[in-house]
Amino acid sequence: ESLQGQTISKGHKNYELMLNLQLGIRHSVGRPGPVISLDLKSSAFDPKEKVWTKFPPEGSKHTPPHQSSDFRWKDYCPLVFRTLRKLFDVDAADYMISICGDDALRELSSPGKSGSFFYLTNDDKYMIKTIKKAEVKVLLRMLPVYYNHVRSFENTLVTKFYGLHCVKLTGTAQKKVRFVIMGNLLCTHYTIHRRFDLKGSSHGRTTSKPESEIDPSTTLKDLDLNYLFRLEKTWFEEFCRQVDRDCDLLEQERIMDYSLLVGFHFREVPTPLASGAVTPTGNADHENEEVPRLSQTGQDQLDSEPSGTCVQHISELFHMAMRSIRSKKKPTGVFYDVILFFGIIDILQDYDITKKLEHAYKSMQYDPTSISAVDPKQYSKRFRDFIFKIFVEDT
Ligand code: ATP
Ligand code: CA
Ligand code: CA
Repeated sequence: ESLQGQTISKGHKNYELMLNLQLGIRHSVGRPGPVISLDLKSSAFDPKEKVWTKFPPEGSKHTPPHQSSDFRWKDYCPLVFRTLRKLFDVDAADYMISICGDDALRELSSPGKSGSFFYLTNDDKYMIKTIKKAEVKVLLRMLPVYYNHVRSFENTLVTKFYGLHCVKLTGTAQKKVRFVIMGNLLCTHYTIHRRFDLKGSSHGRTTSKPESEIDPSTTLKDLDLNYLFRLEKTWFEEFCRQVDRDCDLLEQERIMDYSLLVGFHFREVPTPLASGAVTPTGNADHENEEVPRLSQTGQDQLDSEPSGTCVQHISELFHMAMRSIRSKKKPTGVFYDVILFFGIIDILQDYDITKKLEHAYKSMQYDPTSISAVDPKQYSKRFRDFIFKIFVEDT
Protein backbone atom coordinates (compact mmCIF):
# COMPACT_ATOMS: atom_id res chain seq x y z
CA GLU A 1 0.00 0.00 0.00
CA SER A 2 1.50 3.28 -1.06
CA LEU A 3 1.41 6.65 0.63
CA GLN A 4 -1.43 7.66 -1.64
CA GLY A 5 -3.59 4.63 -0.94
CA GLN A 6 -4.40 1.36 -2.53
CA THR A 7 -5.82 1.03 -6.02
CA ILE A 8 -9.14 -0.76 -5.95
CA SER A 9 -8.96 -3.53 -8.51
CA LYS A 10 -10.84 -6.77 -8.90
CA GLY A 11 -10.76 -8.75 -5.69
CA HIS A 12 -10.65 -5.69 -3.43
CA LYS A 13 -13.41 -5.85 -0.84
CA ASN A 14 -14.91 -2.60 -2.05
CA TYR A 15 -14.48 -3.33 -5.75
CA GLU A 16 -18.21 -3.73 -6.34
CA LEU A 17 -19.06 -0.60 -4.44
CA MET A 18 -16.62 1.29 -6.63
CA LEU A 19 -18.19 -0.12 -9.78
CA ASN A 20 -21.62 0.92 -8.53
CA LEU A 21 -20.41 4.37 -7.75
CA GLN A 22 -18.86 4.74 -11.18
CA LEU A 23 -21.96 3.49 -12.95
CA GLY A 24 -24.04 5.87 -10.90
CA ILE A 25 -21.84 8.89 -11.56
CA ARG A 26 -21.73 8.16 -15.28
CA HIS A 27 -25.50 8.03 -15.26
CA SER A 28 -26.03 11.18 -13.21
CA VAL A 29 -23.45 13.32 -14.94
CA GLY A 30 -24.03 12.01 -18.44
CA ARG A 31 -27.76 12.45 -18.34
CA PRO A 32 -28.90 15.44 -20.33
CA GLY A 33 -29.98 18.21 -18.00
CA PRO A 34 -31.61 21.59 -18.31
CA VAL A 35 -29.63 24.66 -19.29
CA ILE A 36 -27.97 25.78 -16.12
CA SER A 37 -28.86 29.04 -14.48
CA LEU A 38 -27.03 30.07 -11.34
CA ASP A 39 -30.31 31.42 -9.97
CA LEU A 40 -31.82 28.25 -8.63
CA LYS A 41 -35.44 27.97 -7.57
CA SER A 42 -35.90 27.07 -3.95
CA SER A 43 -37.64 23.85 -4.98
CA ALA A 44 -34.27 22.55 -6.24
CA PHE A 45 -33.07 22.50 -2.63
CA ASP A 46 -36.00 20.51 -1.30
CA PRO A 47 -34.50 17.59 0.66
CA LYS A 48 -37.12 15.42 -0.99
CA GLU A 49 -35.59 16.33 -4.32
CA LYS A 50 -33.91 13.01 -5.11
CA VAL A 51 -33.82 10.59 -7.97
CA TRP A 52 -33.68 6.82 -7.57
CA THR A 53 -32.37 4.73 -10.44
CA LYS A 54 -32.43 0.96 -10.63
CA PHE A 55 -29.31 -0.74 -11.95
CA PRO A 56 -30.17 -4.36 -12.72
CA PRO A 57 -27.08 -6.34 -13.87
CA GLU A 58 -28.75 -7.18 -17.17
CA GLY A 59 -29.25 -3.48 -17.90
CA SER A 60 -32.45 -1.50 -18.45
CA LYS A 61 -33.83 1.12 -20.75
CA HIS A 62 -31.78 3.83 -19.03
CA THR A 63 -28.85 1.88 -17.58
CA PRO A 64 -26.16 -0.32 -19.12
CA PRO A 65 -25.61 -4.00 -18.26
CA HIS A 66 -22.88 -4.40 -15.64
CA GLN A 67 -20.70 -6.92 -13.76
CA SER A 68 -21.69 -5.80 -10.29
CA SER A 69 -24.66 -7.02 -8.27
CA ASP A 70 -28.10 -5.48 -8.42
CA PHE A 71 -28.26 -2.04 -6.79
CA ARG A 72 -30.17 1.21 -6.64
CA TRP A 73 -28.59 4.62 -7.00
CA LYS A 74 -29.77 7.83 -5.42
CA ASP A 75 -28.92 11.35 -6.46
CA TYR A 76 -29.69 14.06 -3.90
CA CYS A 77 -30.67 17.50 -5.18
CA PRO A 78 -29.17 16.73 -8.60
CA LEU A 79 -29.79 20.15 -10.06
CA VAL A 80 -28.08 21.92 -7.18
CA PHE A 81 -24.95 19.80 -7.46
CA ARG A 82 -24.93 20.12 -11.23
CA THR A 83 -25.01 23.88 -10.74
CA LEU A 84 -22.32 23.74 -8.08
CA ARG A 85 -20.06 21.84 -10.49
CA LYS A 86 -20.66 24.55 -13.03
CA LEU A 87 -19.94 27.23 -10.45
CA PHE A 88 -16.69 25.47 -9.51
CA ASP A 89 -15.74 25.20 -13.19
CA VAL A 90 -15.88 21.44 -13.39
CA ASP A 91 -16.31 20.14 -16.90
CA ALA A 92 -18.77 17.22 -16.97
CA ALA A 93 -16.60 15.06 -19.25
CA ASP A 94 -13.44 15.64 -17.19
CA TYR A 95 -15.34 14.87 -14.01
CA MET A 96 -16.53 11.58 -15.42
CA ILE A 97 -13.05 10.64 -16.62
CA SER A 98 -11.54 11.45 -13.22
CA ILE A 99 -14.00 9.29 -11.34
CA CYS A 100 -15.08 6.62 -13.78
CA GLY A 101 -11.89 5.65 -15.60
CA ASP A 102 -10.35 2.19 -15.15
CA ASP A 103 -8.38 1.93 -11.90
CA ALA A 104 -9.54 5.47 -11.22
CA LEU A 105 -9.92 5.24 -7.47
CA ARG A 106 -7.60 4.55 -4.58
CA GLU A 107 -8.75 3.79 -1.09
CA LEU A 108 -6.92 5.68 1.62
CA SER A 109 -6.19 3.82 4.80
CA SER A 110 -8.88 5.31 7.06
CA PRO A 111 -7.49 8.78 7.74
CA GLY A 112 -10.19 9.75 10.24
CA LYS A 113 -11.60 8.26 13.42
CA SER A 114 -15.23 8.43 12.38
CA GLY A 115 -15.21 5.19 10.40
CA SER A 116 -15.64 6.90 7.05
CA PHE A 117 -13.84 5.52 4.04
CA PHE A 118 -11.97 7.80 1.74
CA TYR A 119 -11.25 7.36 -1.94
CA LEU A 120 -9.02 9.53 -4.03
CA THR A 121 -9.20 9.74 -7.80
CA ASN A 122 -6.01 8.82 -9.63
CA ASP A 123 -5.56 12.36 -10.88
CA ASP A 124 -5.83 13.54 -7.23
CA LYS A 125 -8.59 16.01 -8.02
CA TYR A 126 -11.49 14.49 -6.10
CA MET A 127 -12.00 12.89 -2.78
CA ILE A 128 -14.94 10.64 -2.08
CA LYS A 129 -15.95 10.18 1.52
CA THR A 130 -18.57 7.79 2.84
CA ILE A 131 -20.75 9.61 5.34
CA LYS A 132 -23.46 8.91 7.87
CA LYS A 133 -27.14 9.52 7.37
CA ALA A 134 -26.98 12.40 9.85
CA GLU A 135 -24.28 14.06 7.77
CA VAL A 136 -26.42 13.76 4.64
CA LYS A 137 -29.18 15.51 6.56
CA VAL A 138 -26.87 18.30 7.63
CA LEU A 139 -25.64 18.88 4.11
CA LEU A 140 -29.16 18.94 2.70
CA ARG A 141 -30.30 21.28 5.46
CA MET A 142 -27.52 23.76 4.85
CA LEU A 143 -27.43 23.42 1.07
CA PRO A 144 -29.26 26.68 0.24
CA VAL A 145 -27.05 28.68 2.59
CA TYR A 146 -23.95 26.84 1.42
CA TYR A 147 -24.86 27.50 -2.18
CA ASN A 148 -25.30 31.22 -1.63
CA HIS A 149 -22.09 31.35 0.34
CA VAL A 150 -19.85 29.68 -2.24
CA ARG A 151 -21.52 31.72 -4.93
CA SER A 152 -20.89 34.98 -3.12
CA PHE A 153 -17.36 34.26 -1.95
CA GLU A 154 -15.04 32.96 -4.57
CA ASN A 155 -12.25 32.62 -2.03
CA THR A 156 -14.22 30.61 0.45
CA LEU A 157 -12.17 28.05 2.33
CA VAL A 158 -15.02 25.62 2.99
CA THR A 159 -14.92 22.25 1.26
CA LYS A 160 -16.21 22.19 -2.28
CA PHE A 161 -18.95 19.62 -2.69
CA TYR A 162 -19.66 18.23 -6.15
CA GLY A 163 -22.17 15.48 -5.50
CA LEU A 164 -24.16 13.66 -2.84
CA HIS A 165 -25.25 10.09 -3.53
CA CYS A 166 -26.37 6.81 -2.07
CA VAL A 167 -25.87 3.24 -3.25
CA LYS A 168 -28.42 0.77 -1.98
CA LEU A 169 -27.57 -2.88 -2.38
CA THR A 170 -30.68 -4.90 -3.04
CA GLY A 171 -31.15 -8.55 -2.13
CA THR A 172 -30.25 -9.85 1.30
CA ALA A 173 -27.67 -7.19 2.17
CA GLN A 174 -29.96 -4.12 1.87
CA LYS A 175 -26.96 -2.06 2.79
CA LYS A 176 -26.93 1.67 2.12
CA VAL A 177 -23.71 3.53 1.51
CA ARG A 178 -23.92 7.31 1.36
CA PHE A 179 -21.12 9.42 0.07
CA VAL A 180 -20.14 12.89 -0.87
CA ILE A 181 -17.75 13.89 -3.63
CA MET A 182 -15.53 16.82 -2.77
CA GLY A 183 -12.45 18.61 -3.99
CA ASN A 184 -9.10 17.36 -2.76
CA LEU A 185 -7.56 20.38 -1.07
CA LEU A 186 -4.05 19.09 -1.49
CA CYS A 187 -4.28 18.48 -5.22
CA THR A 188 -1.11 19.94 -6.67
CA HIS A 189 1.94 18.92 -8.63
CA TYR A 190 4.03 20.19 -5.73
CA THR A 191 5.07 17.55 -3.27
CA ILE A 192 3.30 18.16 0.03
CA HIS A 193 6.01 17.81 2.67
CA ARG A 194 3.91 18.42 5.75
CA ARG A 195 0.20 18.32 6.51
CA PHE A 196 -1.71 19.51 9.56
CA ASP A 197 -5.32 19.01 10.61
CA LEU A 198 -6.03 21.92 12.98
CA LYS A 199 -9.08 22.44 15.18
CA GLY A 200 -7.92 24.83 17.85
CA SER A 201 -8.61 22.31 20.60
CA SER A 202 -5.77 20.75 22.50
CA HIS A 203 -7.05 17.58 24.12
CA GLY A 204 -5.70 14.58 22.20
CA ARG A 205 -4.49 16.80 19.40
CA THR A 206 -1.17 15.14 18.62
CA THR A 207 -0.35 12.54 16.08
CA SER A 208 -0.23 9.05 17.51
CA LYS A 209 2.90 8.25 15.51
CA PRO A 210 6.37 8.18 17.04
CA GLU A 211 8.61 10.92 15.71
CA SER A 212 10.71 8.50 13.68
CA GLU A 213 7.65 7.52 11.66
CA ILE A 214 6.50 11.02 10.81
CA ASP A 215 6.68 11.55 7.08
CA PRO A 216 4.87 13.63 4.46
CA SER A 217 1.81 11.36 4.58
CA THR A 218 1.33 11.79 8.34
CA THR A 219 -1.49 14.11 9.29
CA LEU A 220 -0.13 16.17 12.15
CA LYS A 221 -2.35 18.00 14.65
CA ASP A 222 -2.56 21.15 16.74
CA LEU A 223 -0.02 20.23 19.37
CA ASP A 224 2.48 19.09 16.76
CA LEU A 225 2.47 22.50 15.15
CA ASN A 226 5.64 24.48 15.60
CA TYR A 227 5.27 26.94 12.80
CA LEU A 228 3.80 30.38 12.30
CA PHE A 229 2.49 31.15 8.86
CA ARG A 230 3.40 34.60 7.70
CA LEU A 231 1.27 36.03 4.96
CA GLU A 232 1.86 39.08 2.88
CA LYS A 233 -0.39 41.96 4.07
CA THR A 234 -3.13 41.89 1.44
CA TRP A 235 -3.39 38.10 1.56
CA PHE A 236 -3.43 38.15 5.30
CA GLU A 237 -6.31 40.62 5.36
CA GLU A 238 -8.32 38.69 2.80
CA PHE A 239 -7.52 35.46 4.61
CA CYS A 240 -8.83 36.83 7.92
CA ARG A 241 -11.97 38.19 6.34
CA GLN A 242 -12.69 34.88 4.70
CA VAL A 243 -12.04 32.80 7.81
CA ASP A 244 -14.52 35.06 9.61
CA ARG A 245 -17.19 34.70 6.94
CA ASP A 246 -16.73 30.94 6.72
CA CYS A 247 -16.84 30.50 10.48
CA ASP A 248 -19.97 32.65 10.71
CA LEU A 249 -21.64 30.34 8.23
CA LEU A 250 -20.64 27.21 10.15
CA GLU A 251 -21.67 28.73 13.44
CA GLN A 252 -25.07 29.70 12.08
CA GLU A 253 -25.57 26.20 10.78
CA ARG A 254 -24.62 24.82 14.19
CA ILE A 255 -21.65 22.94 12.79
CA MET A 256 -18.65 21.95 14.89
CA ASP A 257 -15.68 19.59 14.80
CA TYR A 258 -14.38 21.00 11.52
CA SER A 259 -10.69 21.55 10.86
CA LEU A 260 -8.39 23.73 8.91
CA LEU A 261 -6.36 21.37 6.77
CA VAL A 262 -2.99 22.88 5.92
CA GLY A 263 -0.48 21.27 3.61
CA PHE A 264 2.77 22.82 2.55
CA HIS A 265 5.59 22.44 0.15
CA PHE A 266 9.08 23.67 0.95
CA ARG A 267 10.34 25.73 -1.93
CA GLU A 268 13.93 25.26 -0.86
CA VAL A 269 15.81 22.67 1.03
CA PRO A 270 14.94 23.60 4.59
CA THR A 271 18.23 24.36 6.22
CA PRO A 272 18.17 27.26 8.65
CA LEU A 273 18.46 30.54 6.83
CA ALA A 274 20.54 33.42 7.98
CA SER A 275 18.23 36.28 8.81
CA GLY A 276 19.04 39.21 11.03
CA ALA A 277 19.10 38.09 14.61
CA VAL A 278 19.22 34.44 13.81
CA THR A 279 22.45 32.56 13.51
CA PRO A 280 22.02 29.92 10.89
CA THR A 281 23.39 27.00 12.84
CA GLY A 282 24.89 26.22 16.17
CA ASN A 283 22.54 28.42 18.17
CA ALA A 284 21.63 26.49 21.29
CA ASP A 285 18.07 27.76 21.17
CA HIS A 286 17.59 26.13 17.85
CA GLU A 287 19.00 22.78 18.66
CA ASN A 288 15.68 21.33 19.60
CA GLU A 289 13.83 23.06 16.86
CA GLU A 290 12.39 20.81 14.32
CA VAL A 291 14.15 21.19 11.05
CA PRO A 292 11.95 19.11 8.85
CA ARG A 293 13.78 16.19 7.41
CA LEU A 294 12.91 15.47 3.87
CA SER A 295 13.14 12.05 2.42
CA GLN A 296 15.55 11.64 -0.44
CA THR A 297 12.67 11.62 -2.90
CA GLY A 298 11.40 14.85 -1.41
CA GLN A 299 14.78 16.44 -2.00
CA ASP A 300 14.89 15.25 -5.59
CA GLN A 301 11.52 16.74 -6.24
CA LEU A 302 12.55 20.05 -4.77
CA ASP A 303 15.35 20.32 -7.28
CA SER A 304 13.19 19.61 -10.27
CA GLU A 305 10.29 21.83 -9.24
CA PRO A 306 9.39 24.53 -11.72
CA SER A 307 10.06 27.99 -10.43
CA GLY A 308 7.80 30.99 -10.72
CA THR A 309 4.16 30.04 -10.30
CA CYS A 310 1.33 32.45 -10.52
CA VAL A 311 -1.10 32.98 -7.71
CA GLN A 312 -4.56 32.20 -8.95
CA HIS A 313 -6.67 31.75 -5.93
CA ILE A 314 -6.09 32.75 -2.38
CA SER A 315 -6.72 29.29 -0.99
CA GLU A 316 -4.62 27.56 -3.59
CA LEU A 317 -1.26 29.18 -3.69
CA PHE A 318 0.62 31.29 -1.26
CA HIS A 319 4.24 32.07 -1.59
CA MET A 320 5.54 33.09 1.73
CA ALA A 321 7.85 32.46 4.55
CA MET A 322 7.00 30.73 7.75
CA ARG A 323 8.98 30.32 10.86
CA SER A 324 9.31 27.98 13.72
CA ILE A 325 7.76 29.15 16.95
CA ARG A 326 9.03 26.51 19.27
CA SER A 327 11.53 28.86 20.80
CA LYS A 328 9.39 31.20 22.87
CA LYS A 329 12.36 33.18 24.11
CA LYS A 330 13.34 34.18 20.65
CA PRO A 331 10.34 34.89 18.59
CA THR A 332 12.48 35.12 15.49
CA GLY A 333 13.03 31.64 14.29
CA VAL A 334 14.04 29.94 11.11
CA PHE A 335 12.35 31.07 7.96
CA TYR A 336 11.30 28.78 5.17
CA ASP A 337 9.84 29.73 1.85
CA VAL A 338 6.84 27.50 1.33
CA ILE A 339 3.74 27.16 -0.77
CA LEU A 340 0.72 26.65 1.34
CA PHE A 341 -2.55 24.86 0.54
CA PHE A 342 -5.47 24.94 2.91
CA GLY A 343 -9.18 24.79 3.49
CA ILE A 344 -11.85 23.98 6.03
CA ILE A 345 -12.86 20.30 6.03
CA ASP A 346 -15.21 17.93 7.83
CA ILE A 347 -18.05 20.46 7.99
CA LEU A 348 -21.02 18.08 8.28
CA GLN A 349 -21.07 17.44 12.03
CA ASP A 350 -23.76 19.31 13.89
CA TYR A 351 -23.90 19.74 17.61
CA ASP A 352 -26.29 16.88 18.17
CA ILE A 353 -27.13 14.84 21.20
CA THR A 354 -24.06 12.60 20.84
CA LYS A 355 -21.75 15.58 20.76
CA LYS A 356 -23.52 17.15 23.74
CA LEU A 357 -23.06 13.94 25.68
CA GLU A 358 -19.45 13.71 24.62
CA HIS A 359 -19.00 17.25 25.90
CA ALA A 360 -20.65 16.51 29.24
CA TYR A 361 -18.69 13.31 29.70
CA LYS A 362 -15.27 14.62 28.72
CA SER A 363 -15.70 17.86 30.71
CA MET A 364 -15.70 15.82 33.89
CA GLN A 365 -12.25 14.50 33.11
CA TYR A 366 -10.57 17.27 31.18
CA ASP A 367 -10.53 21.02 30.89
CA PRO A 368 -13.84 21.69 29.09
CA THR A 369 -12.24 24.32 26.88
CA SER A 370 -9.61 21.90 25.60
CA ILE A 371 -11.91 19.20 24.27
CA SER A 372 -13.11 19.06 20.70
CA ALA A 373 -16.83 18.73 21.46
CA VAL A 374 -18.09 22.19 22.43
CA ASP A 375 -21.10 24.12 21.22
CA PRO A 376 -20.80 25.71 17.75
CA LYS A 377 -20.37 29.25 19.04
CA GLN A 378 -17.52 28.35 21.34
CA TYR A 379 -16.09 26.08 18.68
CA SER A 380 -15.94 28.80 16.10
CA LYS A 381 -14.45 31.31 18.51
CA ARG A 382 -11.71 28.96 19.62
CA PHE A 383 -11.04 27.93 16.01
CA ARG A 384 -10.63 31.54 14.88
CA ASP A 385 -8.55 32.52 17.88
CA PHE A 386 -6.20 29.69 17.11
CA ILE A 387 -5.98 30.45 13.41
CA PHE A 388 -5.30 34.13 14.03
CA LYS A 389 -2.52 33.12 16.36
CA ILE A 390 -0.72 30.89 13.88
CA PHE A 391 -1.32 33.00 10.80
CA VAL A 392 0.32 36.38 11.08
CA GLU A 393 0.95 39.32 8.90
CA ASP A 394 4.40 39.44 7.36
CA THR A 395 5.96 42.69 8.44
P1 ATP B 1 -13.04 12.63 12.35
O1 ATP B 1 -14.50 12.92 12.45
O2 ATP B 1 -12.56 11.59 13.30
O3 ATP B 1 -12.19 13.85 12.38
P2 ATP B 1 -13.54 11.97 9.55
O4 ATP B 1 -13.69 10.53 9.17
O5 ATP B 1 -14.75 12.82 9.60
O6 ATP B 1 -12.74 12.00 10.90
P3 ATP B 1 -12.16 14.01 8.07
O7 ATP B 1 -11.81 14.83 9.25
O8 ATP B 1 -13.17 14.53 7.11
O9 ATP B 1 -12.50 12.52 8.51
O10 ATP B 1 -10.85 13.73 7.22
C1 ATP B 1 -9.77 12.98 7.74
C2 ATP B 1 -8.50 13.37 7.01
O11 ATP B 1 -8.67 13.17 5.59
C3 ATP B 1 -8.13 14.82 7.16
O12 ATP B 1 -7.34 15.05 8.31
C4 ATP B 1 -7.35 15.08 5.89
O13 ATP B 1 -6.02 14.65 6.03
C5 ATP B 1 -8.05 14.21 4.87
N1 ATP B 1 -9.08 14.99 4.14
C6 ATP B 1 -10.40 15.08 4.42
N2 ATP B 1 -11.06 15.87 3.54
C7 ATP B 1 -10.12 16.30 2.67
C8 ATP B 1 -10.16 17.15 1.51
N3 ATP B 1 -11.30 17.73 1.07
N4 ATP B 1 -9.00 17.36 0.84
C9 ATP B 1 -7.85 16.80 1.27
N5 ATP B 1 -7.75 16.00 2.34
C10 ATP B 1 -8.86 15.75 3.04
CA1 CA C 1 -12.11 15.65 11.22
CA1 CA D 1 -16.00 14.01 11.10
